[in-house]
Amino acid sequence: MAGCTSNQGKPVDGKSKLRIVTTTGMIKDAVENVAGDQVEVIALMGPGVDPHLYKATQGDLQKLTDADVVFYNGLHLEGKMGEVLEKLGKTKPVIAVASGIPDSLLRTVPGFQGTHDPHIWFDVKRWEYAVHTISDFLQQHDTAQAKNYSERSKRYILQLDSLHEQVKQSLQQVPEAQRVLITAHDAFGYFGDAYHIHVRGLQGISTVSEFGLKDVTELVNFIISRKIKAIFIETSVSHKSIEAVVAGCRDKNWNVKIGGSLYSDAMGPAGTPEGTYIGMVSANVKTIVDALK
Ligand code: ZN
Repeated sequence: MAGCTSNQGKPVDGKSKLRIVTTTGMIKDAVENVAGDQVEVIALMGPGVDPHLYKATQGDLQKLTDADVVFYNGLHLEGKMGEVLEKLGKTKPVIAVASGIPDSLLRTVPGFQGTHDPHIWFDVKRWEYAVHTISDFLQQHDTAQAKNYSERSKRYILQLDSLHEQVKQSLQQVPEAQRVLITAHDAFGYFGDAYHIHVRGLQGISTVSEFGLKDVTELVNFIISRKIKAIFIETSVSHKSIEAVVAGCRDKNWNVKIGGSLYSDAMGPAGTPEGTYIGMVSANVKTIVDALK
C-alpha cells in the first residue's frame, strides 16, 4: 500500500481547510508541525492505544470517509486496518509516512522475510523522512500553502536534529555495560540502532505475537547474566509480561526493578509535554537514563 498517492482527493480551493486523518498520534503531531493551523487534523488512535491491534470503529470509518487526505504509518504497523486503508486509497490520497525511508534504513525482522520493523519514530533521523513525506505531499497537493509547509517543516527538522543530538548525549550518562533496554515488545530496535543501546523485547515486533514461558525464562537468565538493574513497561501494552519477568528474576534472587513506563506505540495525553513527539522521546530517554545510569 505504500505509495497510494492517487490525486483523486477533493480539489483544494485555497479557502476551506484540508481535512486530514492520521492513524497514530505521532503522525498527527508531525502533520501539525508541518501545517500549523492551515489544516484540520485528527488522529484515530489516542494515548495508550496499541496500533498493532487497533480496528477501525464505525466512527473512524466516517472520519476516514470525510477526510481529504489520510496519513498512516505503513510497514504493517496498523495490522488490522490494511483492508480499510487499501479501499480508501482508491478514492483519496492515502499515504504511508514510512514510504519515503530508503529500504537500506529499514530493519528487517528475523524469521519474517520481506517484513520490516514499523517502529520508525524511535530514531529521530528516520522520523525526519516521515516529516519530509508529509511536507512534500502537502506542498504538491495544496500549492497555495506550499511556502508555509516548506518553511514550517524546515524549522521543525532543525528541532528534530537537535533532539537527535540530545538523545545521543543523554544516553552517554549510562555506563556502556548497562546500556540494555528491555521492554514488553520489540518496539525499540531503531532506537537501539541509532543510539547504541542493546534492545530486547519479550514479545516480537508486533503485540499480536504471544510470549511463552520459554521466552520469560530466557529473558530472566539474560537479565541476571548481565546484572541488569531495570526493565520497562510500555503505555500501550499490557504490563503482565514484564511483571512475569520481574517475578522470574526474584525467584532466582535477582532484584530487577520496573524502571518506569515508556511511550512506545502511542504518545501521552494531549496538552502534556508527552503528548507531542519531541516530549514523548525526551520523556522516554529521561526514564531510561534515570533507571539505568
Ligand atoms: Zn509496536
